[in-house]
Amino acid sequence: MQRQCSTGGAQVVNSLPMPTRPLTPDQIDLPASAFPALLRGVKGQCPRCGAAALFRAWLKPVDACPHCRQDWSVQQADDFPAYIGIFVVGHLLAPVVIAMIGTFGMSAWATLAIILPVAVVMLIAMLQPVKGAVIAFLWWHGIGAFRQERRAAPPALGAPADEP
Ligand SMILES: [Zn+2]
Repeated sequence: MQRQCSTGGAQVVNSLPMPTRPLTPDQIDLPASAFPALLRGVKGQCPRCGAAALFRAWLKPVDACPHCRQDWSVQQADDFPAYIGIFVVGHLLAPVVIAMIGTFGMSAWATLAIILPVAVVMLIAMLQPVKGAVIAFLWWHGIGAFRQERRAAPPALGAPADEP
């Protein structure tokens, strides 16, 4: 049986679950600057609204924020959080390794036995906060598929700016 062309397309479209549109910036608490956005990411909150969780699992962001409907599936943090984690942990532990071997005269194996678990725990502990910050950074700057959003400028009060 042949469908009518005019309704066939509409039926297919209507059968798909339609995502609700993202809340507009005036409906949510957009961060005022990059730092609060990054802080929300570090705390595992949605960088855009701060009202819902950013992660559904340890390193898996939600597909879309359940509050503001921001699409987080388009984020491209990739390996960058791991690079940041290795960079930070390496720089924090390098002086400790130098002190353990140089100052306290510990053997390389004893140093390795202590430093390796410490480094792994530090990396695991910081991966999710760093990934949240990277996603917040990408979103704030409109990198990749993200669209840059800023708070609306407050309406000018009183005299025009060029008046002395
Ligand atoms: Zn949100």
